Amino acid sequence: MQFSDFGLDRCLIDTVNHLGFSEPTQIQQQAIPAAMAGHDLIASSKTGSGKTLAFILPAIQRLTKNRALSKRDPRVVILTPTRELAKQVFSQLRLFTANTQFKAVLILGGENFNDQVKVLEKDPHFIVATPGRLADHLKQGHFYLNGLELLILDEADRMLDLGFSKQLTQINNAADHRKRQTLLFSATLDHAQVNDFAKELLKKPKRIAIASAH
Ligand code: ADP
Ligand code: MG
Repeated sequence: MQFSDFGLDRCLIDTVNHLGFSEPTQIQQQAIPAAMAGHDLIASSKTGSGKTLAFILPAIQRLTKNRALSKRDPRVVILTPTRELAKQVFSQLRLFTANTQFKAVLILGGENFNDQVKVLEKDPHFIVATPGRLADHLKQGHFYLNGLELLILDEADRMLDLGFSKQLTQINNAADHRKRQTLLFSATLDHAQVNDFAKELLKKPKRIAIASAH
C-alpha cells in the first residue's frame, strides 16, 4: 500500500514523499481511510508508530474538500497532554500547511496569555493545544467552536491520567456535535477511563487497534 492509494490531495502526497516516507504504517493504513470516510475513531498503536500523520493527513484533506461552516471559528482542534507533544504535532502540521491557505496556531500552558488572545483573534483554521490553557481561553470567550469540524484527542490515555477530563468535556461541550467528527488516539485501549470517555464523546466510533509485536 502507498500514500497515493488514499485519494489524498497531490500536495499532501508530495510532502509525504519529501519526508522520505515510502509507505504508510499500519495505523496510517487503517486510520486514514476510516477518518476520510467521516467515521469517529478510537484508535491505538504503540508509541512511534506514526499516529500523528494518521490524523494530520485526513484533517487537512477534509478542510480542503469541505466548505467552512464558519469563516471565523477554528475547523480543527488537536489536543495533546503535554507542551512537548503539542510542539511536535504542530511542527509536523506546519510541514503540511506551509503551502496552503490554512493557518495553524499553538496554544500552550505556561506561555503568555495575552499573546495567545491576539493569536486566537486571527481566526486560525487549526489549533494545536494543551487542554487546560485552551479551556481557559474558551471560558473567557476568546474563540468559539461553533464551526468545529474535527476534534482530535492525541494520547487520550495520558490526558486522562494527567486529570484533564474536565477540560476535555468543556471543550467537547462547546462544539456543535451534529457537524463534528472526533478522532481519539491512545497508546492503549485497555484503559477503562478512555473507553468511558469515548462513549461520552464519540458517535458510533470505529475501533482500530494495532497490536504491538512481542
Ligand atoms: P506516534 O504518535 O505513534 O508515537 P509519531 O507520529 O510521532 O508516532 O511518528 C514517529 C516517527 O515516525 C516520526 O519521526 C515520524 O516522522 C515517523 N513516521 C511517521 N509516519 C511514517 C511512515 N509512514 N514511514 C516512516 N516514518 C514515519
Ligand atoms: Mg503521538
